[in-house]
Amino acid sequence: MLGRKGRPVTGAHRAYRIGILRAGGPGDRRKLAPPKVADRGGGRGRPGARGNDRGAVTTHPTANAGAEHPRPPTGEEMPMSEPDQKTLDEMAERARAVGRNAYIPYSRFRVGAVVLTDDGQMFDGCNVENASYGLTICAERNAIFHMVARGKRKITAVVVCTPTPTPAAPCGACRQVINEFGPDALVVSACDGPDVLKKRLSELLPDAFGPANLET
Ligand SMILES: [Zn+2]
Repeated sequence: MLGRKGRPVTGAHRAYRIGILRAGGPGDRRKLAPPKVADRGGGRGRPGARGNDRGAVTTHPTANAGAEHPRPPTGEEMPMSEPDQKTLDEMAERARAVGRNAYIPYSRFRVGAVVLTDDGQMFDGCNVENASYGLTICAERNAIFHMVARGKRKITAVVVCTPTPTPAAPCGACRQVINEFGPDALVVSACDGPDVLKKRLSELLPDAFGPANLET
């Protein structure tokens, strides 16, 4: 998601956050492993850099053979099973790690994201800003495009980490892109605080426009 560290949250955004936090039951507030490093964006990310290999994709190029799908996923195979807590914790840790590579000279708002595919692979991404501002890409979409480039097409879960006191859900643009590959994906937002947002994409983007709408 985009954002600017320290910028006041708008009324609508605040109401949305509160709504999400209050709407969910206890199950929506699972506590993930606390961050080992409280990185609050003090350092400037290096474009294209990777601080470590934890967030690196292990997919071998040859593993993509046969992954070409002329048709986008339709979600007909839903519902998907929910990843176990160990997997979600690993995703959160990877998201925090890749977030350290965020290129954020303008907002200083560091975000890391990891997507989990239906075959258990993880792909990561960080937000990458641009001097033109409008070309900035969110961590979530960066991770998804990373996944697509490796031949994968189905998302079962997304974990986003922000160095904030409270969790923040993906922006509207990212919700739309998640819907393309995981209309019922589990979306988890972690932060430096104890709260965790945990929703299905279908809850975050109800009545979404998707591939099925283009069928004639
Ligand atoms: Zn976004």
